[in-house]
Amino acid sequence: MVYVHVPFCRSFCTYCGFYSEIASESALNRYADALIAEAEERRNEITDEVPTLYIGGGTPTVLPLSVLRRIVEAIGKGPYEEFTLEANPEDIVEKGEEYAAGLLALGVNRVSMGIQSFDDGVLRKMNRRHNAERAVDGFHILRRAGFRNLSIDLIFGSSWISDSCWEKTLDMAMGLSPEHISCYQLSVDEGSALAEMEAAGRYSALPDELCRKQYDLLCSRLSREGYIHYEISNFARPGFEAVHNSAYWRRVPYVGLGPAAHSFDGSSRRWNSSNPVHWSPSFETLSPEEERLETIMLGLRTAEGLPEQWLRSSVQADVDNFLKEGLLSRSGGNLRIPEDRFFVSDDIIRELV
Ligand code: SF4
Repeated sequence: MVYVHVPFCRSFCTYCGFYSEIASESALNRYADALIAEAEERRNEITDEVPTLYIGGGTPTVLPLSVLRRIVEAIGKGPYEEFTLEANPEDIVEKGEEYAAGLLALGVNRVSMGIQSFDDGVLRKMNRRHNAERAVDGFHILRRAGFRNLSIDLIFGSSWISDSCWEKTLDMAMGLSPEHISCYQLSVDEGSALAEMEAAGRYSALPDELCRKQYDLLCSRLSREGYIHYEISNFARPGFEAVHNSAYWRRVPYVGLGPAAHSFDGSSRRWNSSNPVHWSPSFETLSPEEERLETIMLGLRTAEGLPEQWLRSSVQADVDNFLKEGLLSRSGGNLRIPEDRFFVSDDIIRELV
């Protein structure tokens, strides 16, 4: 299970607090050289226990096919059960059918497209590069190229997004019929342009009850359309749940390559620093307490939940009270947070641990 971080974007989204840079072509090649060197150096860590490769960012589609090919060949281990590439719709439209076919030939079998909204006014406020029409065009280019597993990202819960605008975005999303949808509530992240706007009084967050209304609308609409709500922010057609991300939530070891990537070997984490060409690692061993908290926080975000006996013995709180109040429910031998309480899962987990 390998994650590759591509730290480049062609512009910066208003809400983004991630590390990324705007790069020249020579910087892209120097980055690829450094990434290939890291893959070589860490070859013995790369196993095929969960045979997935995920190239995320930043914006991986700023990379030309030739650079992507060098990286994928250096990592080796393919073909992968799941090989996901995060894509910006504008890059797909600009680079066209040939690029899409080239991705498929590289072994990419799942594309996660950052659409975020189908409302042009909202997309402008977010400073996204594409508009709604280009997002639809990009999606169709990938379909025509032969991709059978497409995911789209959407954002809800902002004062920029009215209920009717959110409904329109969901209608448009359903019109595309993607196999997978990831949907995140807009947060004001430290270091983002949005945080500055908020501090200057030019943005105010949407009240919680209105965010909840949009989340409920999302859940009911996607359930009617046959999607499985398998994690707080993730919905899939049956059989299209993300293999790579699902393994993260079960705390399966993975290798993260590239600047700002992290890795997990089952007990300790490696954090790469952020420099796009000369990154270096630092290490942290998790204490049993940190492992317990992480297992609970990740496991209870999923519809699968956690084994009942393990959870009972791992928390101080009276689990029976949580069951009585409907804050937890049984599913097989597991306990989970019911879907209608997913929105307040952070509060439930806080009380539980
Ligand atoms: S949200 Fe994604 S595309 Fe936008 S600036 Fe951040 S990393 Fe780049």
